[in-house]
Amino acid sequence: MRILVVEDEEKLAKILKKGLEQEGYAVDCFFDGKSGQLQIEINHEDYDLVILDVMLPEINGFEICKNIRDQGIVLPILMLTAKDGTEDKIMGLDSGADDYLIKPFAFEELLARMRALLRRPSNLLPAALEIKDLVLNPVTRKVYRGGKEIPLTAKEFGLLEYFTRNAGQVLTREQILSHLWDFEYDSFSNIVDVHVKNLRKKIDNEKESLLETIRGVGYRLKK
Ligand code: CA
Repeated sequence: MRILVVEDEEKLAKILKKGLEQEGYAVDCFFDGKSGQLQIEINHEDYDLVILDVMLPEINGFEICKNIRDQGIVLPILMLTAKDGTEDKIMGLDSGADDYLIKPFAFEELLARMRALLRRPSNLLPAALEIKDLVLNPVTRKVYRGGKEIPLTAKEFGLLEYFTRNAGQVLTREQILSHLWDFEYDSFSNIVDVHVKNLRKKIDNEKESLLETIRGVGYRLKK
């Protein structure tokens, strides 16, 4: 089991690391919100649980929690909060944390909470759809490319979701039209092309174009 600790009080972080390692966990520590969030975004598949402090420099624990849940990352999160307020507890759980612990806490209590979370199946949250560095979350209806959020209209989101669910396949204009527009639009209309063009402008970057035009047929999202 590998644990990520994001805690700016280095002394506490080191005590946690040492104690958890003695219990047989592998532990990595990050000391500010920005690098902690980045580590989760890039390497979340390597970890089984995150211990996340609320009061952190750069980005606080609530925001990190919300940001990574928006990206569809389902890693269990145990929040550490200094305050005893119910507000913090509600905010923590609202932002997507699985449990919280109020500082100061007994190490045994932390271990017990961790064991409970690690037993829980991690498939409680629906998975986000990922194509290369593009992430689409069907529940929050948010889209990210390279970790950066891309605002889309409802129609563009629907279009991208359709492409994402059929990544690697060529979709004809007729298929796209019948999937996303009602029968009032006939296939002579260029509405599909217009929307694909707008969508492509938003999701593509200099590095790589994800939406390909297949001449005379339709479009394909690369896999
Ligand atoms: Ca702190």
